[in-house]
Amino acid sequence: MFHFDVSMKSTLKRTWAEIDLSALSYNYKKIREHIGQNVAFCGVVKADAYGHGAVMVSKRLQDMGAEYLAVSSIDEAMELRFNGITMPILILGHTPREQVDRLITLNITQAVTCEAKAIEYSEEAVRFGGTLKVHIKVDTGMSRLGYICEGDYFEHGVDGICEACDLPGLSAEGIFTHFAVADEEGDECRRYTDHQFKLFCDVVSAVEKKRGIDFKIKHCANTGATYSLPQTYLDMVRPGLLLYGYGEYAQKMGLRPVMTMKTTVSTIKIYPAGTKISYGGLYTTKDKTRIGVIPYGYADGFLRCLSNKYEVATSDGPARVCGRICMDMCMIDLTDKPDVGVGDEIEIFGPHNPIEKMADIAQTIPYEIVCAVSKRVHRIYIEDGDVVHSELMLRL
Ligand SMILES: *Cc1c(COP(=O)(O)O)cnc(C)c1O
Repeated sequence: MFHFDVSMKSTLKRTWAEIDLSALSYNYKKIREHIGQNVAFCGVVKADAYGHGAVMVSKRLQDMGAEYLAVSSIDEAMELRFNGITMPILILGHTPREQVDRLITLNITQAVTCEAKAIEYSEEAVRFGGTLKVHIKVDTGMSRLGYICEGDYFEHGVDGICEACDLPGLSAEGIFTHFAVADEEGDECRRYTDHQFKLFCDVVSAVEKKRGIDFKIKHCANTGATYSLPQTYLDMVRPGLLLYGYGEYAQKMGLRPVMTMKTTVSTIKIYPAGTKISYGGLYTTKDKTRIGVIPYGYADGFLRCLSNKYEVATSDGPARVCGRICMDMCMIDLTDKPDVGVGDEIEIFGPHNPIEKMADIAQTIPYEIVCAVSKRVHRIYIEDGDVVHSELMLRL
């Protein structure tokens, strides 16, 4: 990654994501107040911190005293270790056995999701002559990773977890599960989450009783549970989306969206009525139309399903996207906005154009939109209104 000088910003400005570190700090503090003194905070920074830049976000969380970070793979964990992050990091996904020595060397905590993985990790740790810190993952109803402990599997699951904890070369610091519907409304979802939580607690008690050793860190609360289910906090919460300030729970808590996606108008042309705009000719001008081209396309993360459906924010109000979104650009209608000119800033999403609305129109979730922001989009970090850092993730 090439860190260019901030003074070069204006010459490189095409389409950029402003990452507001003040908003991130604010959200972190608010969530900490919400969870109380005795609960640890694990910041979920997988997928490049949901597109916000994992190094910068993690540095901030480390400086502010967060206890843990969670990523999805060893590559993501190494990126943090190689960039000054010394705090505990948990890998939620699988790591190939060949890399266990690296996990140990870099002091990275690994999730253990089944018997076979536990044995692999143990063998490699013993071979390397070290101890791998692990958190046991329990599958309580997400049906993804983790020891199955539902119904008839209970005893078998508990035995398997006990065996894993006692394997040589592994040190079981924590145990966790993941909720499937904690961020959805309705009694049925609530019952499902309650059931997941109860099963998790039952498994933990059974394992602790059998071994006579308590886990140091028990955790399960994602964004939905962190907002609405304090009884599930246990030792640590694990919010992702909430921290970045998106979604209904962030709105209810008065949190601030951390990312604002911006671009500028590249060119403006006036077309007569009856002109077809963009690929496929899906849009035809009804009257004389002033069309602006903006350098924001699906290769930047603009979901193509928003073609003809989305409005961007200009200094003079919303402007609709006309026709298909292309790879590198799209067209917007500026007919009734004579004051918007070439070079003017456009907000794709942000405080004037909520990402939640964009997600609704695209029939998706804010997660997918921030994760789709591509590497050619500059990340410009802002603190109290000033640019403090910028990154462009190209091989320059
Ligand atoms: C992604 C993830 C989280 C965070 O989820 P949010 O909905 O963003 O809060 C927590 N735990 C696990 C295991 C995850 O994979």
